[in-house]
Parts: sequence; structure tokens; C-alpha cells
Amino acid sequence: MTNQMKALVKAKPEPGLWLQHAPVPEIGPDDVLIKINKTGICGTDIHIWNWDEWAAKTVPVPLITGHEFAGEIVELGRDVTDLKLGQRVSGEGHLIGKHSRQSRAGKFHLDPETRGIGVNEQGAFAQYLRLPAFNVVPLPNEVSDDIGAILDPLGNAVHTALSYDLIGEDVLITGAGPIGIMAAAVARHVGARHVVITDVNPDRLALATRVADVTPVNVANQDLAETVSKLGMKQGFDVGLEMSGNQVALDQMVEQLVMGGRIALLGIPPGKSPVDWSRIVFKAITIKGVYGREIFETWYKMIAMLENGLDVSNVITHRFKIDDFKDGFDTMRSGASGKVVLDWT
Ligand code: NAD
Ligand code: ZN
Repeated sequence: MTNQMKALVKAKPEPGLWLQHAPVPEIGPDDVLIKINKTGICGTDIHIWNWDEWAAKTVPVPLITGHEFAGEIVELGRDVTDLKLGQRVSGEGHLIGKHSRQSRAGKFHLDPETRGIGVNEQGAFAQYLRLPAFNVVPLPNEVSDDIGAILDPLGNAVHTALSYDLIGEDVLITGAGPIGIMAAAVARHVGARHVVITDVNPDRLALATRVADVTPVNVANQDLAETVSKLGMKQGFDVGLEMSGNQVALDQMVEQLVMGGRIALLGIPPGKSPVDWSRIVFKAITIKGVYGREIFETWYKMIAMLENGLDVSNVITHRFKIDDFKDGFDTMRSGASGKVVLDWT
């Protein structure tokens, strides 16, 4: 192994990412070194590329970006005993602290000191990634490197969808981005009755129907209430999964929910937005905010479901070699894609 590697770097505080050479990371006693095979481009990476207000105040420069990955272990830290060289892995990109009350209670995903690879710490868009062994998730043979590279957003979908019991329930998902679409597949897999997904982008809705058995509704020109009555639903949706970050979508969800309905919010609105709270109170609606993945329960459930027939492979619409990363980002930015996977091999 040479001590230089290719890496996709936020090298300057301006729009863009740059493919550069960087030193292969040195690992500590509790870390592993992962040779990266595939990575996924996330909406977060687009924010970092665009260098918007959030990125400019969050991301240090220079930084290797990226947090969605699959690869194999090529070096083990001195104290790592439960992993093997050559093992195929993905992993949790949130690096947690061990001191907070939440961490000490085992609720690692609620640790307030969490730092993200590719956002606050050196990331996975590189030929090699250093990761604490604690964060590593081994991949079974049934999970390909392509799917391994999108377990981070699939985990967001699984975490949100499993917030409530969906068996026999009617589920509304607002936002047919990659995560909304994968959440629809999960809702189906675990036994929801009707799964309706909304968007204003016809490409995204068409993709949703190629990934999961869902009813797509384009709320730009179709009436959601009409779909509800066509499906024979009497009172509205039991559960809503908000995955657009759009205010109009949330209002529509509250409107279409049953009395006592439950909402899980994953979508991130761009700023403050007005909410009709009285409607939520009078409908006795429960709302849960969802951040990241439960470490490691979401990972466990997600891999178990993939081994048990959950198929989200069609959500990957484009694959590029790393040298063509610009095409990958252009495709992702166009809004016409599902997940875009970059190949580092
Ligand atoms: P995305 O931007 O690809 O998808 C959002 C979709 O919502 C788009 O297809 C868009 O056309 C659609 N949309 C816009 N207006 C709409 C409306 N009125 N009704 C219905 N749909 C509408 O995003 P993604 O990568 O799939 O992620 C989904 C959301 O989750 C984003 O808001 C993202 O920021 C957020 N997110 C949150 C976490 C977390 O930990 N909470 C993690 C990852 C992503
Ligand atoms: Zn991501």
C-alpha cells in the first residue's frame, strides 16, 4: 500500500469538490482501516458541494467528504479483536461520545456530542477510511457493496418507518426522494395495508413505483383526498412519515390523518415554518422527530429485513467511476435520479 490515496475533498470554501491526493489515514488502537469499494451521494453532500449557509458554518476546510460507504477491512488496530482482515463492512458515520447520560444509557443515537464523518471529521469519499471498530457493521453475503453503500439512508428510512407499528395500517409518505421511497418499501415489507407516497416531481413518483408497491400521488396536479376515497379508506391515514421537509406536505399530512394519528418527521425544513398547531391538538396527533439511525438497533433490523426479502435495489439509478464524480453530482443535483453510487475500485 502506498501512503497516498485518492480522496474527494472540500478543498476551498466555495462551490465544488476536488479529487485530490491525501495521506492514507493512520489508525489508533481501537480503529480499523477500511478500503472503500462503493460510496453513495447523499443530499448532505450536495449541500456541501453547493456550499450553502449550513455547509459554510458546519464543515471545516479542507475536509474529505462523504459518509455512505461499503468496503473491506485492510488493517486492524491493536485492541480490535472482534473483526477480521478482509471482512466486508459498512458502518455508522456518527461518531459518538461516551460521556453523556444518553450514551451511558446505551442510547447512542441521542448523544449530543455526536460528530459526523464527511461533515465534521474526515469522510468516506476516499480510497481508505479510518473508523472506530465500534462503528463498523459487517455485511452478510446477501448485502452487495452497492446496497452496503446506501445503508445510511436506508437506515434513516427504517428508523422512521419503524417508529410506529405499521401492521395493517394505512401509511402516507410525503416526499418520494430516495429515503421516502425506501421507507415505502419498508412499510410494505412490514405489512402496512395501503402505502401512498406524494411528491411534485413525476420522475420521483415513477421511480417509487419501480421500487415498491405503492400508490403515487402528484400533489401538484392530483387531489390526495380523491386517492383516499378511491382506496376505500374511511377516515384517513393512520401513520404519516414526513420525508420532504416541505411545509405544504406536512399541512397536507395533518389534514389527511385520522383522529389520534401518528407522524414521524424526518424531513428537514429549510428554516422556521408556520404550523397549524391547533389542528394537531384537536386531532390528538402524536409527532416524533427522527434523527439518524438507532445505533445499532436500526442496523440490525435493516440487515435482517434485507436478508428476509426487502429489496430496495431499484432505488439506485446511476453508477459512476470515481474519476467521473462530477457526472454523479450533476445527476444527483438534477433531481431526476434516485441514489447515485460511486465506484472506487
Ligand atoms: P430529497 O430532497 O431527495 O427528497 C425530498 C422530496 O420531497 C423531493 O423529491 C421533492 O420533490 C419532494 N417534495 C417537495 N415538495 C413536496 C410536497 N409539497 N409534497 C410532497 N413531496 C414534496 O431528500 P432525501 O434524501 O430523500 O431526504 C428526505 C428528507 O429527509 C430531506 O428533507 C432530508 O434533508 C431529510 N433527512 C433527514 C435526516 C435526519 O436524520 N433527520 C437524514 C437524512 C435526510
Ligand atoms: Zn446520507
